[in-house]
Amino acid sequence: MARLVMKFGGTSVADLDRIRNVARHVKREVDAGYDVAVVVSAMSGVTNQLVAWCRDAAALHDAREYDAVVATGEQVTAGLLAIVLEGMGVNARSWQGWQLPILTDNAHASARILDVNGAELIKRFEERKQVAVIAGFQGIHKETGRITTLGRGGSDTSAVAIAAAIKAERCDIYTDVDGVYTTDPRVVPKAHRMDKIAFEEMLELASLGAKVMQVRSVELGMVQNVRIFVRSSFVKPEDINPRANFLGTLICDESEIMEQQVVTGIAFSKDEAQISIRRVEDKPGVAAAIFGPLADASINVDMIVQNVSADGATTDLTFTVPSADYERARVTIEKAKGTIGFERLDGATDVAKVSVIGIGMRSHAGVAAMAFKALSEKKINIRAITTSEIKFSVLIDAAYTELAVRTLHTLYGLDKA
Ligand code: ASP
Ligand code: MG
Repeated sequence: MARLVMKFGGTSVADLDRIRNVARHVKREVDAGYDVAVVVSAMSGVTNQLVAWCRDAAALHDAREYDAVVATGEQVTAGLLAIVLEGMGVNARSWQGWQLPILTDNAHASARILDVNGAELIKRFEERKQVAVIAGFQGIHKETGRITTLGRGGSDTSAVAIAAAIKAERCDIYTDVDGVYTTDPRVVPKAHRMDKIAFEEMLELASLGAKVMQVRSVELGMVQNVRIFVRSSFVKPEDINPRANFLGTLICDESEIMEQQVVTGIAFSKDEAQISIRRVEDKPGVAAAIFGPLADASINVDMIVQNVSADGATTDLTFTVPSADYERARVTIEKAKGTIGFERLDGATDVAKVSVIGIGMRSHAGVAAMAFKALSEKKINIRAITTSEIKFSVLIDAAYTELAVRTLHTLYGLDKA
């Protein structure tokens, strides 16, 4: 029998009415003949509340106890959904991470899944036709027997790991949007839902802040080749024919995508800050002297641009950090001034990063050049550029973010007809 994983996020299980709605989605797939494992998040807002309580209890708290607290949200939803399913005549049983078990390492609050016992679930599908309702976001560390959690948004990763373990035909991620869009539709009304997107592209989008899925879940999907389908839980369950085409975005291997566009999506982030270090001594070890202390301070550096030195003695070096880390980064660099050796530090927080993503860039030349021309025609100045195999990013003044995103969306033919 074909197996299916159905994952429901916090807004989809926000109250009992929505949990009943979820149960009808599940029943539809069971009636269509699937063996179903459901993965649930905590009801929306619950995890935030639990995290806040831990912080209030003690600013510096033991991560093992944090996990004991925050894992409870999913336990509630799993139990409630199993009760509702049973009430509808669907045989169902809830599972917490430790019961299955979902084994993880012991990096509390951001644990990695090591193994999922899929055999037990498959046995129950076969023997009792029983739906498994699994609490997402949590696991157990085998040696200590302690509950672990997978980091915020971790239910996505639970779902993909379970799909891999039971060799599911698909991992459906039900959320409050009907798929993955070419860019944020609030900024570009002509943005459209993609039917398909390759793992690598989705990984870039997720890393750049598209909040559809946890980055690690996409990574896992790519490694395990789990087909992930992002879809809305707010479509009426009865309006969906499980055997027909339904709305959503399939995240899959690129070989499954026939008509690959050169550019598939555009992402942007205003949470960027730029730091330029002027007249740095141009000698070996300088980059290490700058980025070593930043790494030690756990500050993530993104774009890095170093100018070729004109006089052979000094150069300018520019990089970006998350705006939340801007002040800390400045202080860290100023403190290291003695070892680095530079004239002054300039910074800007009113900057934004716009990124263009597409697997087609591997085989097409001049994709980025087109963008530079189009942006210059709109009088948008580019402060820094970075490129990788399937993506390039430009740093611009934040005030021009919307204009830049719209311009590029049109340029690469992504506007909805
Ligand atoms: N409830 C957890 C969170 O809010 C995990 C999840 O929803 O994926 O981060
Ligand atoms: Mg989520």
